[in-house]
Amino acid sequence: MLNIILFGPPGAGKGTQSEKLIKNYNLTHLSTGDLFRKHISERTELGLSAKKYMDEGNLVPDEVVIGMVAEKVKNTPDTAGFIFDGFPRTVAQAEALDKILSENGTPITMMLALQVDEEELLDRLLKRGKVSGRPDDQNPEKIKNRFTVYDRETTPVAAHYKQQGKLFNIKGVGDIDTIFSRLTEAIDAKV
Ligand code: AMP
Repeated sequence: MLNIILFGPPGAGKGTQSEKLIKNYNLTHLSTGDLFRKHISERTELGLSAKKYMDEGNLVPDEVVIGMVAEKVKNTPDTAGFIFDGFPRTVAQAEALDKILSENGTPITMMLALQVDEEELLDRLLKRGKVSGRPDDQNPEKIKNRFTVYDRETTPVAAHYKQQGKLFNIKGVGDIDTIFSRLTEAIDAKV
């Protein structure tokens, strides 16, 4: 199986590139943000509890996220692999993911980390907010809080996979197809 973590700050292009990668490699897209938004639109209990964290740009507690991912992995037995998008966002989530996958006998293949500077990210997110209506993409203060949370909680996740020799940094600026080519080159060189 090909299990990829697509890593990077909010607005790095993880969702856009995931959509292209799943088609190219026939993978399952596992975006925790999308799963939460689905729960919110269906007004589930999990959605209601996640919404208050998401609206402020804070992280949903680890146990909630991990439980949701474990269930999704368990319920997707016949896949060629996963693209994890927006997960893991803390070292505790990374350790839990390693455990879930090792129980499945299918470890993380690699982490692809999209590199984009903060000025460009803010610009992209505010543009996305106008089109998507996502409340967490419309307020510069909330976006800045997401960057702060990312730096504090999520950046160490890259070191976790670097230690395992699985981290690949990819330049995340340029047109969508150019970035996609950089990603596929890194994947094809590894598998
Ligand atoms: P995203 O769509 O990945 O930008 O996620 C939107 C929001 O959902 C984040 O700002 C968090 O509030 C929440 N979220 C998504 N994934 C996670 C995660 N792995 N851990 C904690 N919170 C998450």
